[in-house]
Amino acid sequence: MAQAEIGLIGLGVMGSNLALNIAEKGNKIAVFNRTVARTKEFYEEAGALQGQIVPCETIEEFVAAIRPPRPIIIMIQAGAAVDQQMDLLRPYLERNDIMIDAGNANFRDTMRRFDALKDSGLTFIGMGVSGGEEGARHGPSIMVGGTEDSWKRVEKVLTSIAAKYKDEPCVAWLGENGAGHFVKTIHNGIEYADMQMIAEIYGILRDGLKMSAAEIGAVFGEWNKGRLESYLIEITEKVLAARDPISGNPIVDMILDKAGQKGTGKWSAIEAQNMGVPATGIEAAVAARSISSFKTEREAAEKILGLPDVPALEVTDKAAFIKDLESALLAGKIGAYAQGFAVMSAASKEYGWNLPMPTIAKIWRAGCIIRSQFLDEITSAFTKAPDAANLIVTPAFAAMVKETDGALRRVVAAAALHGLPVPALASALGYFDSYRRARGTANIIQAQRDFFGAHGFDRIDGADSHHGPWGSGLNG
Ligand code: NAP
Repeated sequence: MAQAEIGLIGLGVMGSNLALNIAEKGNKIAVFNRTVARTKEFYEEAGALQGQIVPCETIEEFVAAIRPPRPIIIMIQAGAAVDQQMDLLRPYLERNDIMIDAGNANFRDTMRRFDALKDSGLTFIGMGVSGGEEGARHGPSIMVGGTEDSWKRVEKVLTSIAAKYKDEPCVAWLGENGAGHFVKTIHNGIEYADMQMIAEIYGILRDGLKMSAAEIGAVFGEWNKGRLESYLIEITEKVLAARDPISGNPIVDMILDKAGQKGTGKWSAIEAQNMGVPATGIEAAVAARSISSFKTEREAAEKILGLPDVPALEVTDKAAFIKDLESALLAGKIGAYAQGFAVMSAASKEYGWNLPMPTIAKIWRAGCIIRSQFLDEITSAFTKAPDAANLIVTPAFAAMVKETDGALRRVVAAAALHGLPVPALASALGYFDSYRRARGTANIIQAQRDFFGAHGFDRIDGADSHHGPWGSGLNG
């Protein structure tokens, strides 16, 4: 029997769907799961694809079933489980075999695992996979980090299973070691910001304009035909239209307003801070989820403080205001993506990855959760201006910012005046207003720092840096 082209360990939700996708695209695959009963169950459910699948009960049998050099996808719970699984696998592997962690790993773990295998003859790929269960089954977006040789060994299989955007596969080798998992992390951070901004606009429509779920769903449905067209807007329309089978109410009205934040969203904000690159949209989104989780505290606070004592939102031209909301959401989205790409650009320099920005935008155009036609515009902007300091100074996006920031300003101002929380949208406005202002206000901060700490400061006229004439300041 011909050997399998690839192996996969971990037949949970993601692993089993990915394995079926691999088999369906004509690649023979060996599979193994810690709990053997699951392997049997998976094989039985594979139906017509059984001929492409080699179910294995032991690691030894599994490794022997794969054509060397063996690419082995590990799709299990992220963290210590991956190290345990790699330790169990390692004694059976041979030179040039490739262990591929396809879970949501912290890129720092990926760097460590990659380094640990450096002189062993084995190699490691950190592979970000986006698109959830559906994507894994029918075409995810795949972000690969590892050596170029190891990429070449898996390129054909991964290209066959990746999502396609107008025939272009949404998979790419992005650089060495942690590049793939870093990019996946920022993808998820941007996803947090995107979802939060949608939630803030939903809040204005629900609590400001007092619209029903169905009415709000129709607004998102319209927007999905325009510049905001994206998977997240599409599913927002769908969830707003869905009814709860128990109460008959719109399902969103029956869902508790609490969302968790963990893993990749938080890591994006932390890594942005580590590199000194603002990712205020992602930070606001992570913080908003944290506040959402304090449900009991919020209920108590509303009793003590009440809602803000401000007039209710009243608009004279509802259609114009909704148009503003659409533009504001686009502007906010531009801010979040600009920040995410700026973080990746800084990381690329810091870790020597040479991340290809247009390619990253390209492989996010289909398969992943943030897929949208907007990413096609980012691809084009970075292709035309690969060295741009920031997405918002590329000609196309500078024009979009100028066109939409007025609406963002009006929406943030209206939300503030009427007590509706829009932390992520407001962060985008603050980012634009600060980033585009040549003369900022950090001069006063530098003066204060010099006053209490004798740091010295740089002068605007370029004359030698010196201390201020503070007389007998705290350190004076
Ligand atoms: P899941 O359905 O909970 O399955 C977990 C799998 O991990 C099972 O096959 C389990 O084996 C295995 N496992 C757990 N601990 C193990 C250990 N110590 N040694 C060996 N195997 C172990 O998880 P999932 O949703 O497929 O997620 C898998 C990975 O994909 C995670 O890193 C997740 O963050 C990532 N991911 C998930 C999504 C998503 O939408 N779900 C999207 C992108 C990425 P047993 O059957 O023996 O328990």
